[in-house]
Amino acid sequence: MPVPRPAETIDWADVQDEALDILTRYLRIDTSNPPGREARAARFLGAFLEAEGIETRYLETAPEREILYARVPGDGSRGALMLANHLDVVPPEPRYWTVPPFGGVVQDGRIYGRGAVDMKGLAVMELVTLLLARRHGLRLSRDLVYCAVPDEEALGGYGMGWLCAHHPELLEGIEYAINEGGSGTTDFGERPVFQVAVNEKWVCWMRVTARGIPGHGGIPGPADQNPIVRISRAIDRLATWERPVIITPEMQVWLDRLIAEGLAGWAKTPERLGRALEASPGLRAYFTNTLNVTMVQGGVKANVVPGRASAVIDCRLLPGQSRDAWRDEVIARIDDPSVRVEFFEGLDTEAPRAASFDTDFFRAIEAAVAAAVPDAVVVPGITVGGTDNRFLRARGIHAYGLIPAVLSSPERAGFHANDEYITVEHLNRGCELLFDIVRRACM
Ligand SMILES: [Zn+2]
Repeated sequence: MPVPRPAETIDWADVQDEALDILTRYLRIDTSNPPGREARAARFLGAFLEAEGIETRYLETAPEREILYARVPGDGSRGALMLANHLDVVPPEPRYWTVPPFGGVVQDGRIYGRGAVDMKGLAVMELVTLLLARRHGLRLSRDLVYCAVPDEEALGGYGMGWLCAHHPELLEGIEYAINEGGSGTTDFGERPVFQVAVNEKWVCWMRVTARGIPGHGGIPGPADQNPIVRISRAIDRLATWERPVIITPEMQVWLDRLIAEGLAGWAKTPERLGRALEASPGLRAYFTNTLNVTMVQGGVKANVVPGRASAVIDCRLLPGQSRDAWRDEVIARIDDPSVRVEFFEGLDTEAPRAASFDTDFFRAIEAAVAAAVPDAVVVPGITVGGTDNRFLRARGIHAYGLIPAVLSSPERAGFHANDEYITVEHLNRGCELLFDIVRRACM
């Protein structure tokens, strides 16, 4: 007798009610980082696992900050799969919101709240997937691990970075992970494209500092001796610097697949690609090392010329780039020996490592997407921001970035922005698709 496919016995209407209830309540827990204080969120999610009889662990990484970790054993015949997410969110600016950012408001089919897409929505899809796997007795060939961590929005030192450094045994045997970093989109025309992140840019923040000769504001010396003038020149040199287009191996595959599917006519020749990148900063970020001046500091009083002034430059390097070579380029571009250029302390000193997309799990994603969204295209890609996936990939885990739903442009614009939301429809589709991916990958 054939084994019944669990997906057919699931009452999805009930699951959807449950997912909506969990997400709206989860969005009401303020985990703005700083300070994070994510322990309450970890306990909130963990309670659903405990109620299902799943053994959960809470690992304190700092006061009021905890990692939630649960492992449902499979038969051990294949490597484990981690469903990973972060508990913290970036602080909202409530005066620019039309609803309370921590109200869990559902309105016109949309679930509003800080974290709706980044990334409490996916955390709930993952939670529901694990609950369903348990309730419906999915016969797992892999262990299923649920891991919700603090501090992703502040480099992960009290979150995934901490877990990797202090409890490497909890990552043992994990072959794959699914986490944030990509999603379905209709940016390329009618047909949805699911971009699965297999790598990401390297966050390389820099501080540039100019020194000068302090003095009385009422007695101007040579402009060159004023560090604020020098730092302004350096900033201007950097801001007007045109960096070359670099097509990394990941993005070459991305382009080739989109072109083959007839979705990227704008990339068919180098000239057309150049024009498309010119017109879209979002697209250009996938093909250039970027820099952005984000902070400036200098001066103590209106009538004092300070001794120093500095600026912070948010640099993001493409996979395969050298940090030292980049610093040399920045120094050459500034072209002022009195300006010191240095990287922030505490950043990764190793380049992010790519996950392979020639894997069983990637093929499970492709098959599940094909079944759920018949005309969709699945492509590997990169994330232009930083994610916790870098910690996992550095350990040889194939970590994929994917919110498994076709998000609209306004939904995707909600990352770190005002009136962040995910539609009820996309939450529902995401739960179904993620469960199907996991079912295909783990049975
Ligand atoms: Zn995030």
